[in-house]
Amino acid sequence: MTTTKTCTRCNGTGTYSFNLKDGTVCYGCSGSGVVAVTSKGKKIKATSTLRNAQIGDTIEAGNIYEVISIADVVDPKAGSTDIADILNHTPYNQQVIGKNIVSGKYAKFYRYSSQQEVK
Ligand SMILES: [Zn+2]
Repeated sequence: MTTTKTCTRCNGTGTYSFNLKDGTVCYGCSGSGVVAVTSKGKKIKATSTLRNAQIGDTIEAGNIYEVISIADVVDPKAGSTDIADILNHTPYNQQVIGKNIVSGKYAKFYRYSSQQEVK
């Protein structure tokens, strides 16, 4: 059971100033209007970052997400010599599934595997 409190950035509305990338979604709470807090009312901090997280870690992406799955992504265009495929190459090789500890909703994140050199 996660304790929550009203997001102070958006006052619980879930919306904040508009930008072209994400519209009016509040970055303090990912649009949920609430943030996860400890029993003492302090905002819960993530235990890891998206880049380094393992299953069971928590990461911050607006709200806190518990990492429940990490899977390698197979790029269907890998090895292609077609210039369009090379330019549009998948810019990540791992998919991380996180569960929002407030809403229980799942979200997908993408990252490079830390074993692989980023070019
Ligand atoms: Zn908010």
